[in-house]
Amino acid sequence: MYLFGHLITAWIFGLIIQFFSGTELSIFAWVLLFFGSVLPDSDLFYQWFFNFKIHRTITHSLLFILFVYLLANLISTNFAAVFLATGVFSHIFIDMFSSRRGVMLLWPIRLDISAYGINRSIISTYTIHSFFNKYFILLFRDFVYGMIWLFFLI
Ligand SMILES: [Zn+2]
Repeated sequence: MYLFGHLITAWIFGLIIQFFSGTELSIFAWVLLFFGSVLPDSDLFYQWFFNFKIHRTITHSLLFILFVYLLANLISTNFAAVFLATGVFSHIFIDMFSSRRGVMLLWPIRLDISAYGINRSIISTYTIHSFFNKYFILLFRDFVYGMIWLFFLI
């Protein structure tokens, strides 16, 4: 499923929420739903940038929904967190139907779960492990550069 497919899914989720709650969703709620619905595919940027196969793993898991909910709750309101997390959920939900491979819903458990079945994931833990290693090395290096720069500024 691509961008518009996810936006349309989020729109349908919004319509369902409106139907059952009997209220009109605000623009803010719609924006959060739509943003949440494209957020999981941000892993494609990491995949292109770091050349690691991590698509449909971490950002397509129940833990990610929880992470997004808790983070949004911390930064903003519970209302915002619920709609953002619902958007993320709509993305993962439709990805489970749109591809035979499915998503790593129970990450870090290596199972590709789709509406058509559950399989051992084609993406190894090693790949994800090396992704994190590489990512944290880059973050650490960036931190060290930052500290050196600050030291010269003071
Ligand atoms: Zn996706």
